[in-house]
Amino acid sequence: MSTDVRTALVTGANRGLGRETARQLVERGFQVIVTSRNAADARATAATLAAAAKAPGSVAALSLPFDVADADAVAAAGELLREEGAKIDVLVNNAGIAMDGFNADVARRTIEVNFFGPLRVTEALLPLIPAGGTIVMVSSGMGELSGVDAGLRARFTAPALTRNGVAALAREFVADVAAGRHRERGWPSSAYRVSKIALNALVRVWAPELAARRIIINAVCPGWVRTDMGGPGASRSVEKGAASIVRAAALVNEPTGGFFRDGHRIDW
Ligand code: NDP
Repeated sequence: MSTDVRTALVTGANRGLGRETARQLVERGFQVIVTSRNAADARATAATLAAAAKAPGSVAALSLPFDVADADAVAAAGELLREEGAKIDVLVNNAGIAMDGFNADVARRTIEVNFFGPLRVTEALLPLIPAGGTIVMVSSGMGELSGVDAGLRARFTAPALTRNGVAALAREFVADVAAGRHRERGWPSSAYRVSKIALNALVRVWAPELAARRIIINAVCPGWVRTDMGGPGASRSVEKGAASIVRAAALVNEPTGGFFRDGHRIDW
């Protein structure tokens, strides 16, 4: 891949919003690295997107499985990209799950993929993101703090909150669900919601730190989208949902630390 073109890496790019985000980024002239927890899926996606764009060199597949919940896999992928001399101008943390039901396992797994996944991927790939780089956390309006217990809202918006502090809150939720006390501690009975609340908080606390390196980070809600996750009754096409993500991915230098839908700021 040439170095004068901006390179974007998208997680969970084998289907849904991740795949369409990758497609639109290629259309905008980015070179795109697609990743998937199944490396063969990533290869097939890269081949299809490159053929459709009639641009053979525009999409590469990460050759390793990229399960964002697997710390070893993420570290190995980071190491491989480093060895290959990759530069990642844009990181789109898209991979996510919305599991049926609510219990300790659902809470643990959802937080692991939707919150700790983007955190560990960003930490692993940060050395490859240059000044002027852009990080997008694909979040959800479900992560909005309005309607959340006031005490909990105060903890997630505390000015002194740190990255470790957000991670501790996420772990606390998982422990409270396992101990059967999440309601009395003010948590909603939705692991997906808490995972996106925590992801949004991560964006807020990380932005000032990353700004010192001239890297921006924003959260994006794609809207309710007709994917496997959103279902056939959702109000938005995958093209429209991904366009919301791509707008934030194409930003350079500003703004940072915000939450956006369709390029407009929305409430935390
Ligand atoms: P899909 O279920 O269609 O696709 C999810 C993608 O994430 C798949 O590529 C899947 O890979 C991947 N994925 C799941 N778990 C992991 C993991 N552990 N490691 C790596 N990849 C993983 O969902 P959407 O495209 O709809 O959602 C994409 C993002 O958008 C999510 O973060 C979601 O929360 C967010 N979002 C979606 C909305 C909607 O209405 N659809 C609304 C608001 C936000 P695999 O094929 O291997 O399972």
